Amino acid sequence: MYNYRLLAPGPTPVPDEARLAMARPALHHREPEFKPIFAACRQGLRYVFQTQRDVLILAASGTGAMEAAVTNFLRRGDRALYVNGGKFGERWGKILAAYGCDPVEVKVEWGRAVDPEEIRRALDADPAIRAVYVQASETSTAVRHPVEEIARITRDRDVLLVVDGITAVGVFPLPMDEWGIDVVVTGSQKALMLPPGLAFIAWSEKADRFLETSDLPRYYFDLKGERKKQADDQTAYTPAVSLIVGLKEVLDRIRAETLEGVHGRTALMARATREAVKALGLELFAPDSPSDACTAVKVPEGVDGQALKKALRERFSMTVAGGQDQAKGKIIRISHMGHVDPLDVVGALAALELALKELGHPVALGTGVAKALSILGEA
Ligand SMILES: *Cc1c(COP(=O)(O)O)cnc(C)c1O
Repeated sequence: MYNYRLLAPGPTPVPDEARLAMARPALHHREPEFKPIFAACRQGLRYVFQTQRDVLILAASGTGAMEAAVTNFLRRGDRALYVNGGKFGERWGKILAAYGCDPVEVKVEWGRAVDPEEIRRALDADPAIRAVYVQASETSTAVRHPVEEIARITRDRDVLLVVDGITAVGVFPLPMDEWGIDVVVTGSQKALMLPPGLAFIAWSEKADRFLETSDLPRYYFDLKGERKKQADDQTAYTPAVSLIVGLKEVLDRIRAETLEGVHGRTALMARATREAVKALGLELFAPDSPSDACTAVKVPEGVDGQALKKALRERFSMTVAGGQDQAKGKIIRISHMGHVDPLDVVGALAALELALKELGHPVALGTGVAKALSILGEA
């Protein structure tokens, strides 16, 4: 039997020390053993979020933090711009609408990044817009949006910049304090190498003002109440204790490698994959502004995308993601996040070559692998 290779852009593989820590008997969150673990997590999260501000830990998948990033900062009827270039951008629009805000869509072709000038123009034209919602990395299309440039536009206005960093935090630099991003959210099952179930949110001083005037309905994700509790290393409700025990392990791991080290390793693997794919004569779905979180490869003409995914799973125990909606059956997405190393990249490319060949696509075996090795060997 082959080793299981989880290379979908979330959930991602969990390192042994985190799995073992989570397998220990459950702690009670009001007992003294828990507090220092929680405190260490809060400290480690500041490092990973590149912020001096508090990072709150919520029991939810990433979307819970996205929802909190709407309900805690806006008012009923507030106009908010959102970048829709994929499934997750679309989700901002749905959450905004669900809570009675007035979402204004910036539509972006799938596979492309938003042009920051479009955001500047929209803000110039409509002073009623109070916030901009965007993904740093749009996982459904493997695109990286230019958040630093967008922050330059929003920073000196009375406009909140809210960034879904779910496949960016721990993937590439997203220094929220330095760039002037107002809200950043992420989740546990992507670059943070944990099972799903934790969401995280941090916000700026500017966002504090929005927090004060927000009047949207909320109960579970009440960030003001939660912040008060977490400042004392407690949570308002029962925390996901076992996941937090695992979180301490992965945060220690990131600190040991350093955040720069993690970013560098991820970038190298992403570049090796992209170049290998091109060497194989395949096309990238997002050639101009690729995210290092995952690589979206166009399934070549004559090959069925579902069959390719199935072949990778059945022949090599490898899970990659397909495409969603308009990209369904047309792309596969290979993750580079978290507990993945350069030899995983080589293995994924080898499996891709073999599977394509098996499905009748002409492949000179080793072409992609050789290209990847040449890039990995330079580093
Ligand atoms: C995974 C992901 C999410 C959150 O999804 P959940 O299933 O709620 O964890 C949101 N945004 C992006 C960009 C993602 O990759």
